[in-house]
Amino acid sequence: MLCRAIAFACVALLTATLVAQQVRPAGPVLFEGALLIAGDGRAPLANAAFLVEDGTIRRVGRRDEVQAPAGAARVDLSGKVVMPVLINAHGHPGFQKGLTFSRDNYTRETYLDDLHRAAYFGVRVVLSQGIDAGDLAYEIRRDQQRGLVGGARLLTAGRGIGAPNAGPGAAAFQGIAYEVTTPEAGRAAVRELAAKNVDVVKVWVDDRGGRAPRLSPPVYRAIIDEAHRHGLRVNAHVFYHDDAVDLVDAGVDGFAHLVRDREMDEALVAAIVRRGVYVMPNLGAAERGTHAGLPPWFEEPGLATLLRDTVPAPVIARMRAAFTSREPAAAAAARERYAVLQRSLRRLRAAGARIILGSDTGLEDHVFGHAEQRELEAMVGAGMTPAQAIVAATSGTAEYLGLRDMGVVAAGKRADFLVLGANPLDDIRHTRRIEAIYVDGRALDRAAIRARLRAGE
Ligand SMILES: [Zn+2]
Repeated sequence: MLCRAIAFACVALLTATLVAQQVRPAGPVLFEGALLIAGDGRAPLANAAFLVEDGTIRRVGRRDEVQAPAGAARVDLSGKVVMPVLINAHGHPGFQKGLTFSRDNYTRETYLDDLHRAAYFGVRVVLSQGIDAGDLAYEIRRDQQRGLVGGARLLTAGRGIGAPNAGPGAAAFQGIAYEVTTPEAGRAAVRELAAKNVDVVKVWVDDRGGRAPRLSPPVYRAIIDEAHRHGLRVNAHVFYHDDAVDLVDAGVDGFAHLVRDREMDEALVAAIVRRGVYVMPNLGAAERGTHAGLPPWFEEPGLATLLRDTVPAPVIARMRAAFTSREPAAAAAARERYAVLQRSLRRLRAAGARIILGSDTGLEDHVFGHAEQRELEAMVGAGMTPAQAIVAATSGTAEYLGLRDMGVVAAGKRADFLVLGANPLDDIRHTRRIEAIYVDGRALDRAAIRARLRAGE
């Protein structure tokens, strides 16, 4: 036993040393000539330059304004576009492996595959929203902090909280969430989560189509109160308009979905704006159902290439078949429901609500990276400008998640950015034209990620 412990310690130390060597910061680097989209909504800066040192952006300005210290390396980005990496506040890593979707797949390997897949599409941070069994997510989060493993940076809500049988929907998720019926049990769950240092608390307030009782107002009010006492934000899965109204009144911090029984009315939208509640439109999963036949985005070259690079061919074939086999009547009904979501989002946007990227990534065939990229397009399809969608997916989510040094390409922030071959302010789909991804000022090895994700095929 002791031998095994020593051997493990040695391997861990060796690994840590290797990773540390890889990430040892180089000298200062001046990135120059790109069109810079800062990510906070300000106008883009043409012919920009920014200086990166020790993984941090030190100075940003026009090319003729930013001086590089002697000996600095230079990277010419003329003709390219730079924007911040994407940050997704709603994912569920670890359940899909090839064509299977199950609890059995929930291993360190599958989980890290999903995080690497997200990274390949330009997603730097994923918040896992409440379906993390055991300690796996906490261990991966810790190992990322130590530089032992890569992939998109993981934040986690640990085990979310719902009424019995009213938590996360799929069979693979059964038995993972807390099931509570009293305020005291809700508070106890929050205290356990706080001890694990979760990044957010997740609650489900839904009756799952009448299958189960909803989490009652006294219970979720106790959860919200206890979470706020611990400095934690509460993020709610919601379905019904009436529940959303009361959750806002109760002090919820974020919605993981739009309401789905009807369009948000003006009073709810006004309350969301007044209370500063963050909203994830979460359009992409629902949008899939609106097509009987291949959607235009399915074969859009930028997106299709990224998908082929990261997902096994049989999964792509199944995604395709789901569209081509759908009955037109089913798609038409889904389009009506989807239009309700789009109208709610238009209202929220018009009222100035805080809209952020959260796309329920990791549901079956709703794959990491791909779904986030599609969500941006869906936001624009619902009336947001490309600039607004980019803010939602970068500085917006960074603000919600308390990532103060992320989400904007600006002095003092981490040098985490995408280099694109075309301008997403002209066409939001250009966020897929990724030529390089920089994390802490270093180019991500995307070929290594491709190799990792294709190794299992
Ligand atoms: Zn979800």
